[in-house]
Amino acid sequence: MSVIIDVKFNDFARGYADSSRYAPDLDDMAELAFEFGWRGFGMVDDGTGEPLTVWDVHSYYNCDCSENRIRVNCESALAAFKVAGVETYSHKGWIVWDASSRAGHEIARKIGAALADYPVLDDERLSELEWDNAVRMIEDLYRLPEGVTGDDVIREMPEVPHCSNCSSCDVEDAMASLEYSQCMDCDTWLKTGEYPSDRVCYDCADREREGDCECIPNYVDGLRNMSLYPTASDLREIQRGCETCYPVRWPHGRAKLGV
Ligand SMILES: [Zn+2]
Ligand SMILES: [Zn+2]
Ligand SMILES: [Zn+2]
Ligand SMILES: [Zn+2]
Repeated sequence: MSVIIDVKFNDFARGYADSSRYAPDLDDMAELAFEFGWRGFGMVDDGTGEPLTVWDVHSYYNCDCSENRIRVNCESALAAFKVAGVETYSHKGWIVWDASSRAGHEIARKIGAALADYPVLDDERLSELEWDNAVRMIEDLYRLPEGVTGDDVIREMPEVPHCSNCSSCDVEDAMASLEYSQCMDCDTWLKTGEYPSDRVCYDCADREREGDCECIPNYVDGLRNMSLYPTASDLREIQRGCETCYPVRWPHGRAKLGV
């Protein structure tokens, strides 16, 4: 077809057209250019010889860490073309641009060279996305106590956790440095201060109560006044030492009480 002679391509698009039988050939590219109202058709090297892709919030299939990188590179590339007044389109998930623009050629070349060197176009933006992402992940996975945000937790971590697929983050450690630990029974966060281990919440402690016996409620009330939480083994000890609870809880240990 003769349309090709009227259409400018950048080197990368030309090379890509020849690279594989799955790639569009120059005729296809020229037709697309006409469709978009362009006199040129360009693509961007993602640094590995493949075309730079569009990030689309709706086609989220990679894990978060690669998704963030795709997003940053896409945003940076589109912003650079836009500033220079170069029209862009998304075609088959690739960033394509009007290669009749001289400025566009320079931008595409620079991006390709930068990415061949280092896979991220904007580190600062990437950190920002990773942070937001981690906040969302932590707030989704853990029902944080009131007054504690995902940001608070991440600030206590040695590094920003990347994504739930590729890293496991130590939310428990970070929460411990904020003086919280989870109830042994129901996972509610408790402000346990310096005594984080094996604590249970007041509700779970209350469920250990044997009938009408006041031994557990009395003990828990005493702690509650000091904003402390009981441990599971403390509760067991209280009941072991209680004349009412002991025979019910440990019926075969009766002899021990001398009954
Ligand atoms: Zn990942
Ligand atoms: Zn985690
Ligand atoms: Zn509990
Ligand atoms: Zn009792």
